[in-house]
Amino acid sequence: MSLFSGLREFGFDEDLDMDLYDEDLLKPRKKAKKKSSKRDTDYLLKKNIDCPCCGIDFEALVVRSGKITLKGHDEDLRPIYEELDPLKYDVLVCPICGYASMAKTFDTSTVTQRQKIINYITPWYTGASFEGYSYSYDTAILRYKMALLCDIISDSKSSQRAYTCLKLAWLMRGKLEYEYDYLDLSQRKHLEADELAFLKRAYDGFDIAYDTEKFPVCGMDEVTIMYLLAILAYRLQDYDNAVRFIYLILGNSNASQKVKDKILELKDKTKKKVKELQEQEESAV
Ligand SMILES: [Zn+2]
Repeated sequence: MSLFSGLREFGFDEDLDMDLYDEDLLKPRKKAKKKSSKRDTDYLLKKNIDCPCCGIDFEALVVRSGKITLKGHDEDLRPIYEELDPLKYDVLVCPICGYASMAKTFDTSTVTQRQKIINYITPWYTGASFEGYSYSYDTAILRYKMALLCDIISDSKSSQRAYTCLKLAWLMRGKLEYEYDYLDLSQRKHLEADELAFLKRAYDGFDIAYDTEKFPVCGMDEVTIMYLLAILAYRLQDYDNAVRFIYLILGNSNASQKVKDKILELKDKTKKKVKELQEQEESAV
């Protein structure tokens, strides 16, 4: 899958050849289809947002705070809510200049970063209308990809790119869960593969951030990032790195007992997987 598949909707070439954690810029173009969904509407409202890049305000759908109930988290910290999946509404996209970012970081870009959006995104941006009162997963995924493109173009931190990738992976998982009955086998397999591909990109970016950025990173402290890296490495079957982060957490005095208990469970699971692999290798000889 191309990193930016689907972004034709916004006027960009889907085959953009960009390395996620490299600093090179590339040039986009073009246009195509669109989609929308239903429901969610009882928990959403339209809000006026000022775009920090072009200075024009636009309307965006946001989740009404206090209206939804957190049910729990997946192992990799993905939040699950009772009423809807609010992740779908986390990215703001300016319909005028094409600047896109998660709501939390929308206003935090520097003057240089905004200039890069105006220079490298706006001239090619054809706009995309998100009519209706809610977003489908497909629309949400496109909005996140637009945010990822802006992350790269504006040289955002590795952690910010990684977080966008992590949330993209969560959206793929959300789509698979919520739309499972409507998807055929091949679509499900593609979604699973896409989820893993974005988890890998998230892992790589958080791994770079772990070594190069100051904590907190994307609102997460060092222990939380180590926990996430351990979980992601396990999910990606990178057991050496899973073990590396497991021991870092176990030896960290800031890690709570609750985190250590969770990580001990992961340690057992990792041990089992490594043993299984060794046995498979032995029986193959
Ligand atoms: Zn704008």
